[in-house]
Amino acid sequence: MPVTVRDAAACTDVGRLRQSNEDALVLSDPVFAVADGMGGARAGEVASAMAVAALHGLDGGPDELVRALEDVNARIHQAARDDASLAGMGTTLTAAVIHGDEVAVAHVGDSRAYLWRDGRLRQVTDDHSLVAELIRRGALTPAEAERHPQRSVITRALGAEAGVEVDLVRLAPQAGDVLLLCSDGLTGMVGDDEIARILGAGEPLERAAQLLVQAANGAGGEDNVTAVLVRFGERDADDTEPERAAPLIVPAGALALAGGQAPAPAAAVRREGRRTVALLAAGLAALGIAVAVAVAIGLQWAHFVGATPDGRIAVYQGLPVEIAGDLTLYRPVVVSAIPAAALDAAERDALLDHRIRSRSGAEGRVTALAESSPWLAIPPMAP
Ligand code: CA
Repeated sequence: MPVTVRDAAACTDVGRLRQSNEDALVLSDPVFAVADGMGGARAGEVASAMAVAALHGLDGGPDELVRALEDVNARIHQAARDDASLAGMGTTLTAAVIHGDEVAVAHVGDSRAYLWRDGRLRQVTDDHSLVAELIRRGALTPAEAERHPQRSVITRALGAEAGVEVDLVRLAPQAGDVLLLCSDGLTGMVGDDEIARILGAGEPLERAAQLLVQAANGAGGEDNVTAVLVRFGERDADDTEPERAAPLIVPAGALALAGGQAPAPAAAVRREGRRTVALLAAGLAALGIAVAVAVAIGLQWAHFVGATPDGRIAVYQGLPVEIAGDLTLYRPVVVSAIPAAALDAAERDALLDHRIRSRSGAEGRVTALAESSPWLAIPPMAP
């Protein structure tokens, strides 16, 4: 029986110790990915954002996916050479593209892909890390590796060198399978048994993703933690248009910055949106219930392109209106890694026109910009 993506969800968090979230993720059927950036200042965020941006629009086979990783490796490497503030930046990338009845997983670094099937969890990627190499050579046991002081040292990363060797794994998913992509902030804190237990508990996927992140934070949360989950189901013969998860590309660190507080789980963005709209509707009750409802419906539909307080291009839901003090009629739903400062004045005026659009209309403008923007020239954001 052919299979299709039935459900997908993700959660990301800065963790308990780090100041910023350098993980990024893609949740955009047929592309799913996790990137874990590294480098000084904000360079890690730039590297992971460049990596996930390179996956946008992919829908071909494994060769196209591997080529995308090789190409962005060269771009990250060149950017790190051209700009001293980005020197040494790099990122892991574990990316899955669903192509027909096959899943191609391309992978560099120590972020992982797992396949959960019938209650069993199987790691499908090999870590490109020092301790994993030592285990493969028999010089270290897995138990010793867990406490090894150099367990975070990776042996392959996008951007580290001019060329990169990309691992490729091809999977044939079955109905009921769950694919997990995650950064080492999860697997460094939570054992495979616990991950399998959470995935096997029968929770909705969005909740399962949150529980994985909570488990990592409960165990210390020493690193940024990101989990992307994809559940497969049977595709019916008459299922000509399989259900697609809502497209969403989230440079996770940017999302955390936009929140300005505890970072929002990426997949909870829309649900929280409804709650915000409900609160706004209550606040507007003085205008009359009917007006408030009409405004709430309008706020839910309306989107515009703006810039976050820290200067990144973002799609906002609501109206570009501030009522008083902290009460606004808008909230960010997608925050790009593109700094508004990277645009010239004319581009900025054209993009940030605050015209009300549908969500897809507003996202389309940001996507078009991302595709045409000079990613290599993006400087790291000032804190
Ligand atoms: Ca990490």
